[in-house]
Amino acid sequence: MSEKLKLQNYIRPALELPNKQKELLLHSCCAPCSGEIIEALASSNIKTTVYFYNPNIHPVDEYEIRKDENRRFCEKVGFDCIDGDYDKDKWFERIKGLEDEPERGARCTKCFDMRFERSALFAHENGFNIFATTLGISRWKDMNQINESGNRAAARYENILFWDFNWRKQGGSSRMIEISKREHFYQQEYCGCVYSLRDTNRWRRKNNKDRIIRGVKFY
Ligand code: SF4
Repeated sequence: MSEKLKLQNYIRPALELPNKQKELLLHSCCAPCSGEIIEALASSNIKTTVYFYNPNIHPVDEYEIRKDENRRFCEKVGFDCIDGDYDKDKWFERIKGLEDEPERGARCTKCFDMRFERSALFAHENGFNIFATTLGISRWKDMNQINESGNRAAARYENILFWDFNWRKQGGSSRMIEISKREHFYQQEYCGCVYSLRDTNRWRRKNNKDRIIRGVKFY
């Protein structure tokens, strides 16, 4: 099978927003997770604004790399990319006491809540009626946990809906990797927070693998 045919198999049917909405606010965590979703939305002619709000990412140079990669791809596709605050002190305050929780546990729920609450607020203040997140495309994440957080955040406002579309289906997961390779996105090796960096390195040490060297790996 040629490379072109393989790629064609991954292309989704055209997307449609629920409730006949015409414009989407897309919370994005990073370029690799958002690449496929952004392309699918662009090819479906859905007007989209990308919202990069991820104060969980540690340290700040890692945050800047992930943000710049995301912004670069938005520019290429022609989507606006909003730079949310890096209010990491509030993030640390919010997850206090949950530092030793495992990934997909209570710390991650708080982390999602904080990011989606701000996304819902931004949507509310800027005339969007619907928002979604790129976080669910990753197989490392618990989709129910993400959707519950998204719905909780949306419920704070009468006019805001969380779009819980399953981005992994219709070849989404495979195409996410294809696009990351095509675009040579930065390949982060831990979820984002200092605790995920610590725990990934602990796991690596236990399994005789090298520690993470940040900022050097690209698809
Ligand atoms: S592991 Fe990821 S989702 Fe969980 S708290 Fe850390 S950055 Fe947030």
